[in-house]
Amino acid sequence: MKGKQIRKSKVLQLIVILIVGFAGINHAAELSPAVADTFVPARCVKADFSGPLMTRVGINYTERIAWLDPDWLFEPFKSKEKTEKYDGEFLGKWIDAAVRIYSYTGDEQLRAKLDHTVRALVATQEDDGYIGTYTKSARYTHWDVWTIKYTLIGLLTYANEFQDKKVLDACQRLGECFIKHVQQISPEVFIASSFHGGMANTSILEPMCYLYEAGGDKKILNFCPDIFHQDVLKDIQNSVFGVGKIYERQSNYLGLLEYGRLTKPEFVESLTKAISDKIEAKTYYPVGAVSVGDRAIKGTMPVRKESSGFGWTFGLGKELEMVSPQERFYGRDGSEGCDTVTWMQLNFELFHLTGEIKFLEAAECVAYNQLSAHQKPSTGTFDFFLSPHGVRTFANRHTNYCCMHSLPRAFAMLPEMAVGSMKGSPAVALYLPGTYRVPVKTAKGSKEIDLVIDTDFPVTGKGTIHVKADKPNRFDLMLRVPNYTTSFIAKVAGKSYQGKPGEFLTISRKWNKDDKVEFDMKMDIALIPLYPTAKQNGRKVLRAVRRGPQFLAVDSTTPNKNKLYKGWIGTQKYKVPVDRDGEGVVMYLKDAFMVPYADAGQTGGYVEVFFPSMEWDDKKAPASLEAISR
Ligand SMILES: [Zn+2]
Repeated sequence: MKGKQIRKSKVLQLIVILIVGFAGINHAAELSPAVADTFVPARCVKADFSGPLMTRVGINYTERIAWLDPDWLFEPFKSKEKTEKYDGEFLGKWIDAAVRIYSYTGDEQLRAKLDHTVRALVATQEDDGYIGTYTKSARYTHWDVWTIKYTLIGLLTYANEFQDKKVLDACQRLGECFIKHVQQISPEVFIASSFHGGMANTSILEPMCYLYEAGGDKKILNFCPDIFHQDVLKDIQNSVFGVGKIYERQSNYLGLLEYGRLTKPEFVESLTKAISDKIEAKTYYPVGAVSVGDRAIKGTMPVRKESSGFGWTFGLGKELEMVSPQERFYGRDGSEGCDTVTWMQLNFELFHLTGEIKFLEAAECVAYNQLSAHQKPSTGTFDFFLSPHGVRTFANRHTNYCCMHSLPRAFAMLPEMAVGSMKGSPAVALYLPGTYRVPVKTAKGSKEIDLVIDTDFPVTGKGTIHVKADKPNRFDLMLRVPNYTTSFIAKVAGKSYQGKPGEFLTISRKWNKDDKVEFDMKMDIALIPLYPTAKQNGRKVLRAVRRGPQFLAVDSTTPNKNKLYKGWIGTQKYKVPVDRDGEGVVMYLKDAFMVPYADAGQTGGYVEVFFPSMEWDDKKAPASLEAISR
């Protein structure tokens, strides 16, 4: 994901050099990666925090990233007394998210905090290049390299966005210092000396690739194979999505994908196959949750472990046995936030590389469902281990934990994923309101246009896209038609275009200066099985209601009522006509009144999303659901 930003900023930099002769970050040769992107993300120049998903992105901005005092996260870098903790990772994650948010809000107060923090962080760099939180004797042990990884990620995003040569130099020195250490102790010892079979250490591959892209130093790239994790490399060689600790494993996949994009196309190919197979096999919760506790879900079918007075509890065969009853009490049988974030990143990245819509839809599903459900909308804090069912356990805002800083990064990335260019044409991937600046190839050469998206999607499937160019031009505009709709119509200047689900609709015409596209897609209703193979094991098929990209859930604080709970954040509630077998929460309900899964649980209610034997009265999905207004 970062790789794109780096190349994009180079284009900006060249323009700057040509116009004002400013020499920012520069190196001799432009990189030409082995795998070109099919979809190149464009810049969101102004975010519009309206509609269900962008409202959450806005809450993350004001209540989390802007609210947070980075000095609190900087403290461990000042004192350098860590010998085993991982709390040094938080600052890099905050910097990365804050830079992204600044790019589409222009919030100067946030920028001032960022500048101050980055300057202070770089000032802690030691003579050998080290920036970190560990004592001299404990350096590079425990979570130190993991901390360095996130420090590099944050600083590189900053150097890139603001073309800051000093910060890039600091990153280069930090990278070289790390390489020197690995060469001194040998790569084998380095890999063996960290957590989760060494995967925590080797995941530094991801920012090492970005460092090469930003600075162009070949020796960084040449060093990278020394820190390939052999076990994870086996996943790649066999095109399988591995099991075990999934945050670190997926972090390694991100690095290998970036390395593959730069110089090893077969890595991209095999990861494309591995993740594609996982999507096909549905070995994760359809709401976008990929783990139980912090472990990958295997292909096992969920079994009913017990039923409580409140509803259902499902376990996932053997995987659940690792989770102690106490952990389950605290919600650790849910999926870890960091796992959700990296799964979303991987899928966005694969969409960019391949242009295949299934990856975009997997990532979009995470954003509208599991990711948003992790967030408590009133305070911007999070539930770390989010179970699709049960009561959500949101942390105190001051709690420090990996997910508290990973989840905000994911929200911050979303506006960068909405619009891009495909084969030189502007393309809309996600219907997120905002203003996007996209390069366009026309007969007269390359230029930039602005697309302004105005929509409440997916409350309705309607909206407008304002095409703003300085003068009339002929080019293609591509609009993604989701698989979850059966009808997609776009209208421009009285002419209608009909889209096909699962493809991009191409509108080819001469665009006038102020043309507007009106789109209207149907928000189809469907019953989605928890696992398609459920029946084979003689279990009841558990199903969830999906409307457009959103899964719906029952929340015990907004039961059989024609209104939303007072103070509820969100505008959606639906009356869902279903047949039931009299079990679970819905047994009390004549009709199920459902809210988006993302909104459910925000007022402490018990949440149910998958139901046994749920069917429609006439076995067919209703054409639409009755919306309950406030
Ligand atoms: Zn976490």
